[in-house]
Amino acid sequence: METHFDVIILGAGPAGLACAKELKNSHKKVLIIEKNEIIGPKICAGGVTGQNSVVDLSKSSRALAFQKQVVKIGKIRRKLVLSSPIYIMNRKDLGEFQKKELEQSENFTFIKGEKVIEISDRNIETTKGVYNYDILVGADGSNSRVRRYLKLKSLMSYGQYYEIEEKRSELIWNFDCKNYGVGYIWEFPQINKVTVGIYYELEYLSHEKARAQLHEYMKKNYSHIDISSLKLYGAPINCEYLGYKFKQIYLIGDAAGFTSLTTGEGIGYALESGSIVGREIIEGVSKKNEIEKILEFKKRQEKGLASLKRKGKWANFYLHIFFALLKTKKFQKYIGS
Ligand SMILES: Cc1cc2nc3c(=O)[nH]c(=O)nc-3n(C[C@H](O)[C@H](O)[C@H](O)COP(=O)(O)OP(=O)(O)OC[C@H]3O[C@@H](n4cnc5c(N)ncnc54)[C@H](O)[C@@H]3O)c2cc1C
Repeated sequence: METHFDVIILGAGPAGLACAKELKNSHKKVLIIEKNEIIGPKICAGGVTGQNSVVDLSKSSRALAFQKQVVKIGKIRRKLVLSSPIYIMNRKDLGEFQKKELEQSENFTFIKGEKVIEISDRNIETTKGVYNYDILVGADGSNSRVRRYLKLKSLMSYGQYYEIEEKRSELIWNFDCKNYGVGYIWEFPQINKVTVGIYYELEYLSHEKARAQLHEYMKKNYSHIDISSLKLYGAPINCEYLGYKFKQIYLIGDAAGFTSLTTGEGIGYALESGSIVGREIIEGVSKKNEIEKILEFKKRQEKGLASLKRKGKWANFYLHIFFALLKTKKFQKYIGS
């Protein structure tokens, strides 16, 4: 097998596949390496905001669209209607959807089930071989090996959840700063199941306390379920953005820390950043301005978060004002859904 490639994309998550889509049938010889045998599955609730322009999930029968959502702040329940829906999709389905778009691309070599274990400035070493590159794209998620090679620090937030095999029709966000800090408990329906989870920062909740809050919530809202029979899923999310281009190495998605610390939303950012970097590689022209544009949402949301953190015992009240404002299309557009 050929061992030299113009571009090596490390990781076939939303970011890596979105980048690959831009390189499809181009003059670049591309290698995509994924450590898992199956593309897609990942610890994630699968909520994708309608603001991404890279994959059209309205075309997938596997994605559920939610324009209406329920927001609970403490005991108060509000309805929220977004101008563009949030799609919820199982990550295996999203992976398959994206991979389908890459079929019949003659310039691609796709390697699955091979983990990258070593990186140097022109080579990568996997569990099975060594490949060299002109350009390396680190799309290998929150625990990115490429990011570590670049010696960039990370800032992690966390999510833990259960999957429950029953149909639910409402997408629910629960906020209660006294109990969850600046995070939230979510209920995201998927086809034939629902994920119920907690998003949090260690500054406010330890992993054990977050789990205890989640259990408390489950006891109240899913009392018919025996929690001890369920598998708990959990993973970190890197939210520290420190740049996307480092000489011949790019970082995209969670590897670059594009995810919003406020919401933990990273799929949309992964898709957008992957697509932008793919176009930058093909056109040979810097797309820094486009990267700055997607970062605007992250920055605005994180500014709001910093402000929430300063509100102390008034934090829930502040959230009521925030969600009242979010009813307007103008504010939704400004803050990003
Ligand atoms: C509990 C939880 C819930 C979440 N819910 C949501 C949500 O509802 N909506 C949302 O927008 N975001 C959510 N996120 C965040 C979202 O999962 C990420 O932002 C998104 O997956 C980032 O995509 P990515 O392509 O950058 O990385 P990933 O999806 O992590 O993909 C990285 C890929 O690289 C591969 N890889 C990693 N290391 C190697 C290696 N050494 N060699 C070869 N391959 C490798 C991995 O197997 C993987 O396929 C959630 C995260 C967590 C932890």
